[in-house]
Order: sequence, then structure tokens, then C-alpha cells
Amino acid sequence: MTSSRYCVRCGRPENPEEPLINGYCSDCYIDHVGLFDAQPVLSVTICSRCGSWYYKGRWWEPLSFEDIIRRLFLDWAEKHLTDGVELVEVEHVGKPVSRGHGWYDVVLSLSIVLVNNAVRRRDIDVRFKLTKTVCPRCLKKAGKSFNSLVQFRSTRGYLTEEEKSYIREKLSAHGIAEEVVEIIENRQGIDVKMSDHTVARRLAGIVSRERSAHVKETFKLRRYDPGRGRKEGVITLSVRLHDIAPGMVMEYEGRPCVVIGVRRGRVLVEFLDNGETAEFSIDLFWRGLLRRNEKLVRGGEYTVVGYDSSMLYLVNDETGEIVEYPRLVNLNTVKVGDKFVSYRVADKTYMVRKRGGGDG
Ligand SMILES: [Zn+2]
Ligand SMILES: [Zn+2]
Repeated sequence: MTSSRYCVRCGRPENPEEPLINGYCSDCYIDHVGLFDAQPVLSVTICSRCGSWYYKGRWWEPLSFEDIIRRLFLDWAEKHLTDGVELVEVEHVGKPVSRGHGWYDVVLSLSIVLVNNAVRRRDIDVRFKLTKTVCPRCLKKAGKSFNSLVQFRSTRGYLTEEEKSYIREKLSAHGIAEEVVEIIENRQGIDVKMSDHTVARRLAGIVSRERSAHVKETFKLRRYDPGRGRKEGVITLSVRLHDIAPGMVMEYEGRPCVVIGVRRGRVLVEFLDNGETAEFSIDLFWRGLLRRNEKLVRGGEYTVVGYDSSMLYLVNDETGEIVEYPRLVNLNTVKVGDKFVSYRVADKTYMVRKRGGGDG
């Protein structure tokens, strides 16, 4: 069946899937009525310190520039779309081109739908004024001097990415972020300047509780205020995270042991001399009673090939050498095929059962 209607503007026959709108074909309709009843002009306000942006009367967490433009444009478009045109989405935000004095032009690719259900893509020019300012939160911080320094370190000598993101998350928490004046990340760890002693201590306390970290507080006098009879100075809270992890060889009361688990402030170890396990508070580590054994050397891996009532017979997985090892009390469940790791201190060799993922 052929259509008997034609577009009043370009004369093309009507497409049965896209009926004419007021006599126009879809493309001519867009050209005729336009997408918007005005030229899009936006106003973008961004904090030059923290990147947060202003929208609908308040400051929002930082977003990518594209996303800020997209959000502001959708808001603008809602009020200015022509009748019969609906905006599906902003598919792409181009690179802004400076026009001077804070004015920029940017091309947005839009996907739209008309009343006859025809979908079209159109690029449009958007002009915006960029205002860089300082948000109230940064302004407040700028006026504050710091009186507390919280230093996050690890007994490892550096912080892992996981530890860094954990600390950043704590710093952005409500009730703490407000008092953070400056965050400095360096090779040893993270230094945080804060404007309030109590909040700094609270932050250190949270990390101490959640990560069994050790906190040491020191005070440096800056000046004495005779009028108020008060000492004014900077407190430094040194927050040390531990790096105790399964497989680490430690010693307790002179006896070497290997860490088989770390959980909720407690360390589970297995003593190398008799294979017994024990659980210690990480506090013992901070007091120097449970400490790393630097003299212990990890040796080869072994597989049990046989045993009798008093001895285990193991083969070195690499060299094929067979060794005997006393079958200690805790080794009475050992089966042929079980894996062991050897550790050596001075002239002594210890065999420790190798533990799998969920074991221990
Ligand atoms: Zn037409
Ligand atoms: Zn800011």
C-alpha cells in the first residue's frame, strides 16, 4: 500500500512507520519547530579546592565534568523542550572550547523521540559560564589552623592500597571530614592535619579499634596563653597498623611460631617445636612479647610419604630427598600426601603443616 500524503516542506512521501506530524516528516518537523524554545546556556559553579559543585541551592560531591554538564543540561532541557519532542538521553558530552572570560562552548549529542515515535540523534551547541570558587566547607577549613596531626603508618613500612582506601573512607566520614584541614600522602603513609583534638583522638580510636592499631600521642607546645592559663600546641597521634599475616614467622618467649590466622585483634599461631596452637592478643605484639623472628629461614616444601608411631617420613618436593621428623602429638592426624613446609633456625629444622585457604 502506498501512502497518499507528502511532507509539506520537503515533499517526501509519508513513511508508514513515522506518520507525518502536522504535515511534516520527522526531520522537517525538528527543523521547523526546533528542539528547544531557547539557546541552551548553563552556569557551572565548581569549588577549585575540592571539586564539589553547586546545584539547586547546595554543594554536591565532586563529579566528572561530563556528568556535571549532563545533569545541568537535563535540568535546563526539562523546562525548554519543544512540544512533541522528548529527550531520551545525553549520549555524549564533547570537549569544552574556551571562548574567554569564563565562557565555554561544548557539543552535546542527544537522542530524542518525537510524538510519532521516531528516534533521532542531534548534536547541539551548549554555552556555559564556568565559575570557580571556594565552597563553604573549604572556606571554613582555610580559616582554620590545625592543632592535631594524625600519622598513619604500618609496621610494614608502607601502607597497602587497601589500607589507604580504608583510611580515606574514615576521613570522609561525617563528624570527621569537617575537621580535616589537610591530607598529605607520602611514601611512609598518610598524614592528616586536623583542627580539633577530640575529633583527631576519635579518628585514631576508631582505627585502633577496627584494625588493632597502636596509638601513641605526643604533645608539642606552641605557645602558652597566660591570659587563659592554657598551653596551646599540636598533638601528634601516631597510628601504627600491624602487618601480621598468615605464614609470618614470629617468636613468643623464645619459641618460634608461625601465624596461621589473624582475626578481631587476635593472632592464632602454631609453635614450631611441638606443633601446639595458641591464640594471642595483638596487644602482645605491640608490647614486644610476640615479635617477628628474623633469623628463621623458610625452607623447602615436603609431602608425607609414610609414618609409624613415632616418625613421619617426608619427601622434599624439589630434590626428592627423604627426611624423618618426630611425630609430635598434634601430628597424629597426618595422612600420606599431606604437605609440609620446613623452617630452619640456626641448626634446628622444624616441619610445619601447610594450611589451605579455609584452614586455621
Ligand atoms: Zn520533510
Ligand atoms: Zn570545596
